[in-house]
Amino acid sequence: MSKTNTSTPQSLQFTRHLHPAPLPADQRAALLKNPGFGRVFTDHMVTIRYHESQGWHDAKIEPRAPIPMDPAAAVLHYAQEIFEGLKAYRTADGGATLFRPEENARRFQQSAERLAMPILPESVFLEACDLLVNTDRAWIPDGDGSLYLRPFMFANEIFLGVKPSSDYLFLVIASSVGAYFKTSAPAVSVWVSPDYTRAAPGGTGAAKCGGNYAASLIAQAEATKHGCDQVVFLDAAERRWVEELGGMNIFFVFDDGSMVTPPLGGTILPGITRSSLLTLAKDKGIAVREERYSIQQWKADAASGRLREAFACGTAAVVTPIGTVRAPDGEFTIGNGGSGASTEALKATLVGIQRGTTADPHGWIHKVF
Ligand SMILES: *Cc1c(COP(=O)(O)O)cnc(C)c1O
Repeated sequence: MSKTNTSTPQSLQFTRHLHPAPLPADQRAALLKNPGFGRVFTDHMVTIRYHESQGWHDAKIEPRAPIPMDPAAAVLHYAQEIFEGLKAYRTADGGATLFRPEENARRFQQSAERLAMPILPESVFLEACDLLVNTDRAWIPDGDGSLYLRPFMFANEIFLGVKPSSDYLFLVIASSVGAYFKTSAPAVSVWVSPDYTRAAPGGTGAAKCGGNYAASLIAQAEATKHGCDQVVFLDAAERRWVEELGGMNIFFVFDDGSMVTPPLGGTILPGITRSSLLTLAKDKGIAVREERYSIQQWKADAASGRLREAFACGTAAVVTPIGTVRAPDGEFTIGNGGSGASTEALKATLVGIQRGTTADPHGWIHKVF
């Protein structure tokens, strides 16, 4: 495995190959009116190749198009793939910003390490994101929308043997997005999966890899079947501790104003939204503990009223209140079943910083142009 390739420069020369026929402005405007999530794509993409003997090379921005693949490409068989997700926001002065993209670059390196993939320099990751946002700036929606960037990397060696691939392809694509959840309800409902877990100690729970999502889909389907928006996973060892949702971290808010979120320990994805909210809560003088919280306690605290609010958080859906928790042995409601004051206050501060309408005391905003 060539984890670190010392021959890779910290910056690559990107070949620019602009789209000969980008989507006409009126058609783009029609798509941006109600983009939903993950269906509307921009005109370009970034691609960078890796080979163990050459390191990172052949960096390009080019028209977005299907990528030819050999049916024996390793990723199709052994799922050696990782990804990231971050948003570009339009600012009042007509510019564009990213929120803490260095954190995404670092997490991408950590995911790569866990999946025995090569490390992409942080500066190259950032350059690739900036370049795509700059090139496809017309695709950043106004108002509540944003441009969702999806950097990802997969094993591209043509070989059926089981080993870390010798070839990889890194790409960044972009999607104009509106709200993540279709529901206009004030809060989401979650299903506590009795049979399935997301991540086990020593596994890949802390890596952002496609395989984690593949393994979570049956539980998500079960949640949908039970009328819930999302699945919430318990720990794999004791089936007792609340870990996270399929793709979002979780917070609990108590009647004394304090908050709890499950601690990172290898089975939980270290969310950048989670880490930002921990900092913002401390800024606001809220006592916030990274502490295990059991499903039994959750139920008891919801019943007694000690638990006032619960919410899920992540880049895609930002901060989403949890109203109802359903399990095979019954369901319970949190607070009034809608959002709460602490959830809304934290969300407003975070969204304000992300959109440049609130001061950014921690230097989280990265200006693209
Ligand atoms: C991406 C992700 C999150 C949220 O991470 P953010 O950096 O806040 O977007 C939470 N859980 C899982 C499983 C994820 O894949």
